[in-house]
Amino acid sequence: MNGGKNFSALKISRIVIQVLFFIFLPAWYFQTFAGVKQLYLSLIHHQFSAALWPQIIGVLVIIPVTLFAGRFFCGWMCAFGSLTDWIYRGFQKLFHKNLKIGETWDHRLKFLKYAILLLIIVTSWTFQSSLFSSSNPWDVFGAIAAVGNTPNFADIFANMAAGFALFCLITAVSAFSERFFCRYLCPMGALFSLVSRFKTIKFKKPSTHCGSCKACTNSCAMGIPLYRMDSVGSGECINCMKCVSACPRGNISLTVSGRKIRPLAAGIAAAVIVTGLYLPVQTALTQIAQKSAAPSGQAGTAEFLLPDSSAQSFGPYKDGTYQGSGTGFHGGRTTVTVVVSGGNITTIQVDSCEDTPSFFNTAYTVVSDEIIRSQSTDVDAVSGATYSSMGIMEAVADALSSART
Ligand code: SF4
Ligand code: SF4
Repeated sequence: MNGGKNFSALKISRIVIQVLFFIFLPAWYFQTFAGVKQLYLSLIHHQFSAALWPQIIGVLVIIPVTLFAGRFFCGWMCAFGSLTDWIYRGFQKLFHKNLKIGETWDHRLKFLKYAILLLIIVTSWTFQSSLFSSSNPWDVFGAIAAVGNTPNFADIFANMAAGFALFCLITAVSAFSERFFCRYLCPMGALFSLVSRFKTIKFKKPSTHCGSCKACTNSCAMGIPLYRMDSVGSGECINCMKCVSACPRGNISLTVSGRKIRPLAAGIAAAVIVTGLYLPVQTALTQIAQKSAAPSGQAGTAEFLLPDSSAQSFGPYKDGTYQGSGTGFHGGRTTVTVVVSGGNITTIQVDSCEDTPSFFNTAYTVVSDEIIRSQSTDVDAVSGATYSSMGIMEAVADALSSART
């Protein structure tokens, strides 16, 4: 299993996969986190609709894979994690200045990410506080990393100044401390860490064959004290395989139920399985959600049937059909037609959209559903698609400006 050639193939393959995910699915992490939020809200409010499925399919694919195989997503597919990997490697190659956090403090600081996850769930998701809406660095990364678009820094500074400052701080610290964000701060990493404790794919490292070099421990991206272990069951492990490559004795192997498997094959299989399940299913579910929201067969229409009692009562708007437009991601204009019936918003139809499709599709079904459900344009933006969400809200608000009673 070991040998320089294999290690090179492993390292190169991982870098290639990281680059591909960075280019083609840069927002996947944020969309998955947004999916966790949607799933949580649907569960606590007992509200499920077709619009929910395209949002949560990422979660439904990635969580079971993590449960079985561990955090391949973090080690091989997450664009934010990859970015911090590259910053660290580049900086270390040039300056060799490494901030080593001792084992005790590393262990303590790793609890921070669970506290952040809990804080987000309680304040932002449960009590709908806007505490994190403009201060989270992952939305900023989503806005910057969209391939094919030049980031609109004026918008980012205007709407996410705190998030941008945090993003810069995190990337700066990542140059000195490997996977700083993943180790200590990432709320999604906290969730993955909890889930992956039950994984069946594990690294074995019989200490009877170990030397005293601690090469595996020193190379571990997540600071796991491997020198003390015979097997890596820690939820902190991101399956980056650096320890496998680092061991001069070839003493670390990947196993499923005690049987050895090839690390390279496992990494490639995880990436292929996750994308193979996610992309086609997500596309199909988006189409189903849009069709089920558009009984007339008109794509891009969100319609919510109000309960009988609310349909009979007059809402705050004049009945009629109104048009409005708003600015979405990277200045893309979104034009909508809003139908008001019985005083309530009943339909939001997208007439034209210059927004980036991946972000717009992420935001559209959830935001329009939420506007109709709450009868207000003041709804939460979809994390990872903030600008597209704001474009939809602005367009609907613009349309409704003529509908006030
Ligand atoms: S811990 Fe968070 S940022 Fe790091 S790789 Fe995992 S999901 Fe991405
Ligand atoms: S234990 Fe090995 S595979 Fe896991 S994070 Fe550390 S170096 Fe990567």
